[in-house]
Parts: sequence; structure tokens; C-alpha cells
Amino acid sequence: EAKRSAVNNCQVFEPQMAEEVNRLLQLESDIRSSFQDHQFIFYLQPLIDLHTRSLVGAEALIRWEHPLRGQVQPAEFISFLENSDMINPVGLQLLDDVCQFIRYHKEAGRFPVELRVAVNISERQLYDADFVGKCLSVLRKYKLPGSCLEFEITEGAALHNLDEVVDKMRKLQNEGITFALDDFGTGYSSLSYLKRLPVNKIKIDKSFIDDITIDPQDAAMVASIIAIAQNMNLIIVAEGVETDAQAQWLSQYDGILIQGYLFDRPLSPDIFAQNYLPELPGF
Ligand code: C2E
Ligand code: MG
Ligand code: MG
Ligand code: MG
Repeated sequence: EAKRSAVNNCQVFEPQMAEEVNRLLQLESDIRSSFQDHQFIFYLQPLIDLHTRSLVGAEALIRWEHPLRGQVQPAEFISFLENSDMINPVGLQLLDDVCQFIRYHKEAGRFPVELRVAVNISERQLYDADFVGKCLSVLRKYKLPGSCLEFEITEGAALHNLDEVVDKMRKLQNEGITFALDDFGTGYSSLSYLKRLPVNKIKIDKSFIDDITIDPQDAAMVASIIAIAQNMNLIIVAEGVETDAQAQWLSQYDGILIQGYLFDRPLSPDIFAQNYLPELPGF
């Protein structure tokens, strides 16, 4: 019976492979032309202080405004970008767009000095020999301090050549950019990255937050992660908070930041600005 189903699997396997190869080839040519047309844009999801319920930041999340397919989510194309050389120009363009947004709202007196926009940076970008230089020239272009930005990296992103990555991080931190360790706990050696990477913040992955109110094991793990982060003076973000019960559970700890649908979804930059960036007093 096992053999039989293996054979059956083989028969459906081949046409599926061909389909997948076609899909990827189509995706590649689509992506190259869409980059030229500036179809990659960003949405902003607010980051909220759980106790004061006030805005402390936002994460920029890439979206693909496809002329035929409509808005495409990163799950469908980000790993493709990351596995090709395209993540570098696309990532840089997104950083440029984010900085343009910040500049615009600063000039309108609507961007508080203490606010940071977080940008996801992937492994390939960190390995670009001139990554630091490129980031600094975008800041200079818009006359912005590094303190309006945070970079989110994942554990895997520093897998190779850790010293080089740490060196780049320190250079950017000297300019005021902070770093967050994203999807914390999902990698193979979270604690070892925490030990070696000079991060300012950890973002506890949604998969740990999902069941904190119903699974004692998950609750124990999150409690331990919070204890480690607090002892290391790191800022803690709970990702993917969807329910009041989760927020309630998290509120037993001081200084937790939350990001999730409970508070708000990722929003277009215009809507985000309308809802979260009122004119500052005294401007
Ligand atoms: P991430 O950096 O961990 O971003 C958080 C993801 O969780 C976002 O998905 C966000 O929309 C989603 N999320 C936030 N709150 C909730 C919630 O309460 N429930 C649920 N179900 N989801 C929630 P998104 O925008 O689809 O992005 C997925 C991933 O794609 C990101 O995960 C990040 O790894 C990657 N990504 C997004 N934008 C960029 C980018 O500009 N550059 C790079 N390199 N990667 C990006
Ligand atoms: Mg992120
Ligand atoms: Mg994450
Ligand atoms: Mg992620």
C-alpha cells in the first residue's frame, strides 16, 4: 500500500514540477519589470505600548501592487526576491520610499522625533559590501538621522560571516539606527544569536504568542523569553497579538510592546498617517 501511493505520488509529481518551474519563470520576469514600474510599495503596521496604548513605532511591510493580480502579499514573492539578486535593489528602493515618507511628514510637523519606522532587512542585503554606505546615503538624501529607523533581521540572516554582520550593525548603530531580532525563537539557535548580535529589541514570534492563554508550555516559554530579554535590557515586542485575552496575559509584564491585528492591521502609508500622525502641538 505504501509503495502504491509512492508511485501515485510520482505520477502527479512531474506535471506539478513543470507547473512550478513555469510559475517561477513567470514570477521572475514579472518581478524584474514590476521593479522598474515601482510596483513594490510598503504598508505600515503600528507598534503599540501595551500599557499606555500609545504608538511607539511602525513596521514597513512590503506589498506588490500587481496590475492584474491586485495586491500580492510577501508570502508569495519574498523568498523568491531573497533567493535572487533582486532583493538588493528592491530593498533599497523600499528604504528610500520609507525615508521619503518620514521626510514628508517631518516637514508637515507630523512625525514625532521619538518615532521609528522598522524595515526588514534580509541576509543578502547584509552581505552587500556597501550596505552601510547605501543606507547612509539614503539618510543623507532625505536629511534624516538614523534614529528614525530600525532594522529587523532574522536569526538566519547572520548565519554566515557573523563578524562582518556585527561590524556593519555597529556602524549603523553609531548613526542611530537600532536593531530588532525578528521572529525570535523560530531559528535553530536563538540564544546564541542573542549572545552574539548587538540587538536592541526582540520580537517574539507569533507562533509562541498564539496559544499563550491556553497552552501552559507556550506561556512558560514566553515568560522565560521575557525574563531573558528583561535581564539583557532588551525591548520586547509580542508579534501577532490578535485577542484581548493575549493582551491581558501579556500585560502582567512591564514594558511590553505589541504588534497585531488586535490593535491594527498593516495600513497604506496614507491611512497610517491619517490615523496615527496628527499635527504635533506647537508646530
Ligand atoms: P515579519 O517581519 O515577521 O512581519 C510580521 C508579519 O505578521 C506581517 O506579515 C504582518 O502583516 C503579520 N501580522 C501582524 N500582526 C498579525 C496578526 O495579528 N495576525 C496575523 N495572522 N498576522 C499578523 P506580512 O506583511 O505578510 O509579511 C510577512 C513577512 O515577509 C515578514 O514577516 C517579513 O519576514 C517579510 N517581509 C515583509 N516586508 C519585507 C521587506 O520589506 N523586506 C524583507 N526582506 N522582508 C519583508
Ligand atoms: Mg519584521
Ligand atoms: Mg516577525
Ligand atoms: Mg518573518
